[in-house]
Amino acid sequence: MAGPEIKAPPFRDIPTIPALIPGAMAASKPYVANQKVQEGIGFRGELAENWQELAIEKMGDLLGKYRSLKVYMDSCVHCGACTDKCHYFIGTGDPKNMPVARQELMRSVYRRYFTLPGKLFPSLVGAKDLTKEVLDDWYSYFWQCSECRRCSLFCPYGIDTAEVTMAARAIMDHIGLGQKYSNEILAKVNKIGNNLGLPGPALEDTLQGLEEDVKEETGVDVKFPLDVKGADVLLITPSADFFAEPHIDSLIGYAKVFHAAGISWTLSSYASEAGNFGLFNGSYEMMQKVAMRIRDSALELGVKRIVVGECGHAWRVAYAFWNTLTGLGGGGTDPFSIELQKQLDPTFRQPSHICEVTWDLIQQGKLKFDKSANDHRTITFHDSCNVARASRMGDSPGGQFDIPRNIIKAVANNYVEMEKSTVREKTFCCGGGGGVLTDDLLDIRVKGALPRMEALKQVSDHDGVNFMATICAICKAQFTKVLPYYGFNMRVVGGVHQLVSTAIKLGDEQ
Ligand code: SF4
Ligand code: SF4
Repeated sequence: MAGPEIKAPPFRDIPTIPALIPGAMAASKPYVANQKVQEGIGFRGELAENWQELAIEKMGDLLGKYRSLKVYMDSCVHCGACTDKCHYFIGTGDPKNMPVARQELMRSVYRRYFTLPGKLFPSLVGAKDLTKEVLDDWYSYFWQCSECRRCSLFCPYGIDTAEVTMAARAIMDHIGLGQKYSNEILAKVNKIGNNLGLPGPALEDTLQGLEEDVKEETGVDVKFPLDVKGADVLLITPSADFFAEPHIDSLIGYAKVFHAAGISWTLSSYASEAGNFGLFNGSYEMMQKVAMRIRDSALELGVKRIVVGECGHAWRVAYAFWNTLTGLGGGGTDPFSIELQKQLDPTFRQPSHICEVTWDLIQQGKLKFDKSANDHRTITFHDSCNVARASRMGDSPGGQFDIPRNIIKAVANNYVEMEKSTVREKTFCCGGGGGVLTDDLLDIRVKGALPRMEALKQVSDHDGVNFMATICAICKAQFTKVLPYYGFNMRVVGGVHQLVSTAIKLGDEQ
C-alpha cells in the first residue's frame, strides 16, 4: 500500500524560523532491525523484557566512559542559540527537532536516574522516567538527527548533539531496538567487506568493465587494480563508487589522476568500503571492527600509503579515529601497528584524502587539464558535514574547505559560491547523513534538505549554477533522490573528481 505522498516544503522568501507544529514528525520512525541482523552483529535480537534496566545501565556505562557526554548532560543553559540551526527543525517545524529539545529527550532521563534532585523531586527539575512512550520518542527523534554537528557550532558551550544522538542509538542497540538500515549495513560490511554486500568477483567484474569504458572513451589504458601486492597506494573508497551514479564518475577521476601521475595503486576486495556506520551508531567496538579490515588489508598488500576516496563520514573516521582504532596514522603500540608504521611512507600524510593527493599533484605541476571541457557547467560546492566540522585537510587551517574548491577552480572556469551562511563550517547537511539515508525515512530526508535546496536555488536562479559538487557518497545519494522534489534535475549533483575526470589530460591519448 502506498504511504502518504511526500512533499517538499515550499521555498521561503526569507529564511525565517518556522512556525511550531508539535508532533509533526512523531510518526516518522525507521524500520526496526530483525532478530537475525541484530544478533549477527552482537546485539540483542529484540527489545529485552528488562529493557528499561538495561538502558539505564548502558547510559551509566557511557556517562562513565565519555566525559563529554556527562558534560553535555549537565551544561545546557537553554539559551536557545541552537534552536533554529537544525535543518530538520527548519524543514518540519516539529519542536522536538530543535537540537536542545532532542538533547532534552536524553537529559530528562539522565536527571531522573543520575542526579540527586531528579531522584528526589523529578517534576521540579524536569526529570522523566524512561517509559515506553519516552523510548518511542527516542526512536523517532534520534533517527531524525544526521549527526551533522551544525547546532554545536552555534552553542556557546559547544554541546555536541551528534554525540548525544550517538549515545541514544548505542543504548537502543544495546536493549535490542536497532535500526534496520544501519545494522544491515554493518552486518554486510563485517561479512563481505562493503556496505553493499558486493562480493570480490563482482567487484573484479565491475572494475574490468570500467577499464573497458574508459578505454573506449579516451583510448587510454587506465587501470582499476584490485588486490595488487606491492602497490604504493591502497585506495579505500565508499562502495557506492563502484556502481552508483554519479559516484562512479569520481572513481574514474581517481583512477585517471593515479594514471596521469604514474602512481601505482590498488583497491582491496577485503577492505572494499570506506564508510563506517559504527560511527553513526555510537559503537566504538563496531567502528574498530570495520576499521581493522583496512589495517589488515594494508599489511597484507604491503602498501606505502593509504588514501581515502570521496566520503564524508569515512574521512572523519579515518582522520580522527583510525589512529586510536587501529594504530594507523600513529599511536598504536601493538605489533601490527608497529609493523604498519614501519611499512607506511612517513613523507605522506597517513591517511591522505584523495583531494589532498590531487591538489598536491596539481601544485607540483604533475597534472594537466583542459578547463574548457567543463565549460558546460557552472559549479558550486556543497561542504559535507563530517568533512567540514569534524576533520581537516592539508597543512593549513580550513584546508578541508579550500582544497576541494582549489581543485574545482583548477579544472573548471565557472565557479560560484552559495550564500555564506550555508557554506564552509556553517554548511547545512544534505538531509541524509548519519544513518538516515533510507527510504523509510524519505519524508524527513526531503524536508531536511530544504535549507541546502534554497541556497542552491538562489545560485541557480541568479548565476545559472547547474552542477553542485560534493565529496561525500551519502550527499551524492541523498541529493540524487531529493533534488527532483525541489524541481531540480537529479544530475545536478556530482563529485569533485567527476570534474577532474572531465578535464584531465592523460598525456597518452590516442
Ligand atoms: S541533525 Fe545536526 S543540527 Fe540537527 S540536532 Fe542533529 S547534529 Fe544538530
Ligand atoms: S545553544 Fe547550547 S546551551 Fe544553548 S540551548 Fe542549545 S545546547 Fe543548550
